[in-house]
Amino acid sequence: MDFKNIDLANFDQLLGAKQEICIVSHKSPDGDSIGSSLGLYHFLKQLGHSVSVITPDRHPSFLNWLEGSKEIINLEYQSHIVNKLLTAANWIFCLDFNDINRVGDITPLLESAEAKMINVDHHQEPTHFCDYEYIETDASSTAQLIYELIAQTPHIDRLNKDIANALYVGIMTDTGSFRFPSTTASTHHVIANLLATGIDNAAIHRNIYDSSSESRLRLLGYSISEKMQLFLDHGFAIIGLSEEELQRFNYQKGDTEGIVNFPLSIQEVKVSVFLSAKDDKVKMSFRSKSDIAVNSIANTHFSGGGHANAAGGISSLPLADTIEKLIELLKESFPIETK
Ligand code: 5GP
Ligand code: MN
Repeated sequence: MDFKNIDLANFDQLLGAKQEICIVSHKSPDGDSIGSSLGLYHFLKQLGHSVSVITPDRHPSFLNWLEGSKEIINLEYQSHIVNKLLTAANWIFCLDFNDINRVGDITPLLESAEAKMINVDHHQEPTHFCDYEYIETDASSTAQLIYELIAQTPHIDRLNKDIANALYVGIMTDTGSFRFPSTTASTHHVIANLLATGIDNAAIHRNIYDSSSESRLRLLGYSISEKMQLFLDHGFAIIGLSEEELQRFNYQKGDTEGIVNFPLSIQEVKVSVFLSAKDDKVKMSFRSKSDIAVNSIANTHFSGGGHANAAGGISSLPLADTIEKLIELLKESFPIETK
């Protein structure tokens, strides 16, 4: 394949007029994958294209208020439609993932699709699986990159509240509300331009972060008070939840999002790992502070990867065995000097 960076100024011309376009993002959709996808969706629709947003599985309900979220098609519930759309597409945008295997059962459909593919992403170690790519591994979020793509076209005047809300959500959620080191002056410039459309930033924050159910908050409390294991000499913390515990708190998709960050509020904790069991697999989220990288451990030992300070992985061992293995690895990786 011929790898090219998109010529930013010509991104809309590259596509051509009235195309069949699919926008695909990764498994377990988050604020950035959905925000960047819907931002691009609203923009491309205004240019006259026929556009669909496709995800491997359902997005969390705290994103349901975003315009267009009800039109998102997910493979779990609508596999027939997904198949049809991807087969008919002229262009497929792959947003917020760096490897074709990050889209679960959509992977073989992408592999056999005739469409030209464009990857827009900010994850480390891109695998160059598309015909075209716009990749900035230092960028705060894929949503910021989508803004940059739109801003370089002659159609920046099409930036409206629907696009701005979606992109704001992507940037806000992937920067921990503008506090991670990936937040730069240009991130704030982009945010200023999004706010200038008249979107309500306080309402966006409320919609995302103040929309929990009672059981979700109680699950958070339980995770911290009953389940957090601290290894302060080594500077790490682990929280692991079984399927039974999740069910006890009436687990809904998205309910465990963010739990992994809380142990980092302890001064000595530099690395936090959250594990949750589902269907004989254990999903793992890694977070770290400052210059400690967690993506390599996720990649080497748990078939995953991600960013230096935020990574994910998966384990096929039972929860208790996964935690045991993890503790060994973290003790080896973070000896006493991280204290
Ligand atoms: P989260 O903990 O929020 O699920 O994921 C944190 C970061 O790690 C995200 O940027 C996500 O894209 C990445 N990530 C999560 N799971 C995986 C995985 O299984 N493989 C890879 N390569 N990256 C992952
Ligand atoms: Mn992202």
